[in-house]
Amino acid sequence: MRTHDRLRIAIQKSGRLSDPARDLLARAGLGFRESRDRLFCYGESLPIDLLLVRDDDIPGLIAEGTCDLGVVGQNVLEEQALEREASGQPEAFRAIRELGFGRCRLSVAVPNDWDWPGPARLEGTRLATSYPQLLARWLRNQGVTAEPVVLSGSVEIAPRLGKAEAICDLVSTGATLLANQLKETAVVFESQAVLVAPAQPFGDARAELAAMLLRRLDAVLSVRASKLVLFQAARDAVPALLALLPDAEPPTVMAIEGQRDQVALQALCRSAMTWQRLEDMKRAGATGLLVLPVEQMLA
Ligand code: ATP
Ligand code: ZN
Repeated sequence: MRTHDRLRIAIQKSGRLSDPARDLLARAGLGFRESRDRLFCYGESLPIDLLLVRDDDIPGLIAEGTCDLGVVGQNVLEEQALEREASGQPEAFRAIRELGFGRCRLSVAVPNDWDWPGPARLEGTRLATSYPQLLARWLRNQGVTAEPVVLSGSVEIAPRLGKAEAICDLVSTGATLLANQLKETAVVFESQAVLVAPAQPFGDARAELAAMLLRRLDAVLSVRASKLVLFQAARDAVPALLALLPDAEPPTVMAIEGQRDQVALQALCRSAMTWQRLEDMKRAGATGLLVLPVEQMLA
């Protein structure tokens, strides 16, 4: 029987979510002693331990109480939540934070040579997928009847094997689709990694540990999105430039030695700086634009 004075977090053992999940926990100040079997890592700095598992097992481990928190893709979590719902089981877990990594989309892809008038094109076809619940919900919303063919891996080769006409699979860059002569035609579900917790509160010492971990994660996540933007501009271009940075804290404006009309600015931005935004700033008169990540912040 496990005692409830330690918190146990499930993360993916090896795969796309492993390193970012470990990195996030390390930034929140968690350190672990690696065990020999590498499945269980004892928390050294705090009473928080890690269990390294397959990502698909994480929602179930939370539902049965073997783990207290987990890091998993929304695609896996929502698929399993729908599955539980369909079989009449009560809600057992929920996502409590979006973590900003592991971004991908579950998309329908069809052979390159198909025309694509819209989802109605899928009527009566067989669709290979590992996400039958998410696919079925989308098909229902589209008013399309198609047959899901459930495969646990290598979904993208199903059309060539004659197992299905089209597929519904996870995509991030699209390189795998391209290599299999498929084209992405519709997004079924957008996903990123989330922190998942039981639907019911802990009601014991774990509640306080979880609250502390969440406070730290929130600080890490908000710093991660923040950028320090440095640039120079003519004094009279400054108001227009600040209008392009609506999410920035009031900037620091500094004089430049020997240049009366030119100033240097420094602004902390709370959201991502896109290339589009930088180009807009350049057009509005900013020069020497520099965007720096923020390591730590103590407000
Ligand atoms: P295992 O089941 O052994 O833990 P896996 O093969 O299911 O591993 P990965 O391929 O590492 O796992 O994917 C884990 C998660 O990463 C996915 O469920 C999804 O949330 C996310 N992800 C991000 N980009 C992609 C992508 N291009 N393809 C697949 N998954 C992606
Ligand atoms: Zn998996």
